[in-house]
Amino acid sequence: MSTTEQQMHNVIIIGGGMAALTAALYAARAELHPLVISGRAPDQLSLTTDVENYPGFPDGVQGPELVQRCRQQAEKFGGQFVDVDATGFRQENDKYVVETEDGGYAASSVIIASGARAKTLGLESEEKFFGKGVSTCATCDAALFKGKDIVVVGGGDSAMEESLFLSKFANSVTIVHRRDEFRASQIMQNRVFNKDTINVVWNHEVEEVLGEQIVAGVRITHVETGETQELDAQGMFLAIGHIPNTEYLEESAVELDEHGYLKANRRMHTNLPGVFAAGDVQDTIYRQAVTAAGTGCQAAMEAEQYLQSLED
Ligand code: NAP
Repeated sequence: MSTTEQQMHNVIIIGGGMAALTAALYAARAELHPLVISGRAPDQLSLTTDVENYPGFPDGVQGPELVQRCRQQAEKFGGQFVDVDATGFRQENDKYVVETEDGGYAASSVIIASGARAKTLGLESEEKFFGKGVSTCATCDAALFKGKDIVVVGGGDSAMEESLFLSKFANSVTIVHRRDEFRASQIMQNRVFNKDTINVVWNHEVEEVLGEQIVAGVRITHVETGETQELDAQGMFLAIGHIPNTEYLEESAVELDEHGYLKANRRMHTNLPGVFAAGDVQDTIYRQAVTAAGTGCQAAMEAEQYLQSLED
């Protein structure tokens, strides 16, 4: 047993984004003295610039600032933070142990809010222009692309949804898909096909994002012939799926779905008593800062009730 493991916490919160921070705020205000294992990598909001859809900020707020303010608020009420990565999770008699690179931390209850990350293509140019025309969230950034020409990459429901949303702002939307059919539901496909301002380029992959300081175009390649063409575009939205940050849970007894998302019920309970889920780690639909915050609040209230039931 490591030295950190000897101290028993009421509740440990795993994660550093809006779900984890809101859970920390609520747990701290309930005097549970939560320990937050917030991880080393920035959360999704900290990678965003202008956040214009978080209630209470009519002039918008910068993603990192919103996250920092939430952390300060949780700290003010007694939340403690360790900025290390969770590397494992196990149940041991009446406690749970979260393993980290610094040793294990033990608690009666755990809120898992370690988030998800958007899949990217892995291109150097895509990374260079991230936040300068390349985005993974149309709901967040569409309004910045009024009157522009946009490329959307992907062929699932997210790509359809993002293209339809973007078409309200953009001059044109071109979906680049690597096959000759979409995997999206028929109803979403039909909506896309019925929109004059959305075009589809089949059987192509993005080779490079072009531009100097900001995105000016996208070079695409035909998957069979290898022929390339350049599309004029001032923005590129990636909608090729998300990956939940649950690799460290794979050997544990907590139940994940076939895509690695944490399984939770409407009250944020997982299959293990006293273990709750919040935010994008359990959300394949909404993925918004405000919904993450909402489920973080729910999870903390459920943890409080659980701890009370242990005392009773
Ligand atoms: P998805 O269904 O996994 O689709 C990902 C798409 O991206 C696929 O078309 C895939 O191509 C493509 N793709 C993946 N990796 C790629 C790469 N490296 N290069 C180029 N293309 C790549 O993901 P999703 O659209 O995010 O949806 C996830 C889940 O949420 C689904 O169950 C979906 O139904 C659900 N969802 C529902 C709604 C809604 O109902 N309103 C909205 C959004 C999401 P291939 O097809 O060739 O594999």
